[in-house]
Amino acid sequence: MYSRTLQMLSPDYLKKLSTPSWDVIVVGGGITGAGILRAAAQQGLRCLLIEQRDFAWGTSSRSSSMVHGGLRYLGSGDWKLARDSINEREWLQQSLPGLVNFIPFLMLHKPWQWPTHHAFQLLLTCYDRLAGYRTRQWFNKLKIRQLLPCVSSACVSGSGFQDALTDDARLVMRVLQEAKNDGAELLSYTRVDELVYRDNQVVGVKVCTEANKQAVLEATVVVNATGVWSNKLASLAPGLTLRPLRGSHLTFPAWRLPVPAVVSFFHPQDHRPVFIYPWNNATIVGTTDLDESQKLDKEPKISLTEIDYLLSAANSQFPHAKLTASDVLSCWSGVRPVLSQKRQRKPSKESRHHMIWQEPGLISVSGGKLTTFHLIAEEVMTLVAQYCPDAQPVSIHTSPWLRTPSISNQWLRYLNPQQLQRLFGYYGKAANELLNCAKKEELNTIGASHTLWAELKWILMHEWVIHLDDLLLRRTRLGLLLRNGGDEYFPQIKYYSQQLLSWDDLRWRQEVQRYQQIWLRAYQLPNIS
Ligand SMILES: Cc1cc2nc3c(=O)[nH]c(=O)nc-3n(C[C@H](O)[C@H](O)[C@H](O)COP(=O)(O)OP(=O)(O)OC[C@H]3O[C@@H](n4cnc5c(N)ncnc54)[C@H](O)[C@@H]3O)c2cc1C
Repeated sequence: MYSRTLQMLSPDYLKKLSTPSWDVIVVGGGITGAGILRAAAQQGLRCLLIEQRDFAWGTSSRSSSMVHGGLRYLGSGDWKLARDSINEREWLQQSLPGLVNFIPFLMLHKPWQWPTHHAFQLLLTCYDRLAGYRTRQWFNKLKIRQLLPCVSSACVSGSGFQDALTDDARLVMRVLQEAKNDGAELLSYTRVDELVYRDNQVVGVKVCTEANKQAVLEATVVVNATGVWSNKLASLAPGLTLRPLRGSHLTFPAWRLPVPAVVSFFHPQDHRPVFIYPWNNATIVGTTDLDESQKLDKEPKISLTEIDYLLSAANSQFPHAKLTASDVLSCWSGVRPVLSQKRQRKPSKESRHHMIWQEPGLISVSGGKLTTFHLIAEEVMTLVAQYCPDAQPVSIHTSPWLRTPSISNQWLRYLNPQQLQRLFGYYGKAANELLNCAKKEELNTIGASHTLWAELKWILMHEWVIHLDDLLLRRTRLGLLLRNGGDEYFPQIKYYSQQLLSWDDLRWRQEVQRYQQIWLRAYQLPNIS
């Protein structure tokens, strides 16, 4: 078994982490926690991140993966969030090409529908102004038909602009890897059960591992970045409630509805914006927005009403595609951590701002977006610095947060430039090592996905895979992108897992059983057996 997973599973590891005291303990291994850990490590602090399940297990592997400037926020007059999101989009795309990629967006217009294409173009003018360059375009009916041959004849024009797409769970992993490279420590499948207080100040956390081992870990300051669970660890600021809002997506094979851009339109039923977009060689339709009533410790799952809503959205714009539930490869649902002051608001009218609140020794943060994780981390770090005067603030201009090395030409013999850019975006400087370890046949992709067998091997060796679902649902997205959750490839995956994680046959069977239970519950449509 290879170092990282082995190290995390070793009986002494927890003991080793228990002393001496940490500068910062971050609770929650989603994008918010990962960003804070990365910032703390860069500032030279001794820092540890603790995640109750797998890294990115929460909302950060279940979003729409858009790194967007938030046109919607601009439309509702929230200039600050729109401007911050645009700046972050630009910075992320420059830092992580191959992982965060620009993609054209196309808003479809129908006659008599608000906003009209004139109004929308005006909004895009402001959007371009904030970005500092122009991407907006206007397409007439003929051009729209050329771009989208199957689009409904009711669509009379379109507005084009640019935003970006990523893979949310891979973004978390990339940020964690950078933090680890700067000396941070990570613990997954370890739950923080309670905070430890001394003289009315938080001084640490009491944790329990999956194997039921318990320990107390001390820190100068604890950061609660547990997203939708943040009110379980610390009470919310007065006047706030945490309103968990579920959003779901459907995945289709790309050939069933090929789209060259992120196509956006308003749902005929409730006039909410819906997106159809190309992602990892599949087509995604999303999303919904409704109060989550299921327990938050279970994997969130799509309801029959949401399936109808998303299918009818897609068929309203692409009636010739005649999409049905039997075309769906997989589905996924996530729960937005929305901090709400007025419960009676419609879900989609709730603010997407993050909030930070404190008590002595504890900083809590929740809400916000994937796109703005770095800003949130910087804001939290200004508060951390009050506890840790040794922190050495660094500017992203002099010491980049995230860096993607240039690609060596030697690999062009084996992979095309897009594949290489993707690898370097996903794995940073480790991509060279990943390629050096690969056999020629491992440079083939797995089924219709973009994932190479060489990546799967690398991930098993270096990315803290504890269970099969970590590998198939978050480190790779094979469980979302391949039919039946990728079971066709189990023999090869078994081979690698046994070689690299020392799983015997019994362990492999247990892992398959666990994975299939999760997949059937949360990633497969409920009415398809
Ligand atoms: C459907 C949907 C679509 C979205 N689309 C976008 C988008 O396109 N672009 C965008 O910018 N944003 C999007 N978002 C928002 C974005 O996904 C979230 O804001 C972001 O992922 C929240 O990250 P987080 O780290 O705060 O929370 P999480 O990712 O949920 O992380 C919190 C972690 O804390 C862990 N945890 C909880 N309690 C404990 C404990 N006691 N001990 C240890 N660990 C614990 C959880 O297991 C979890 O992994 C979307 C959200 C949803 C739901």
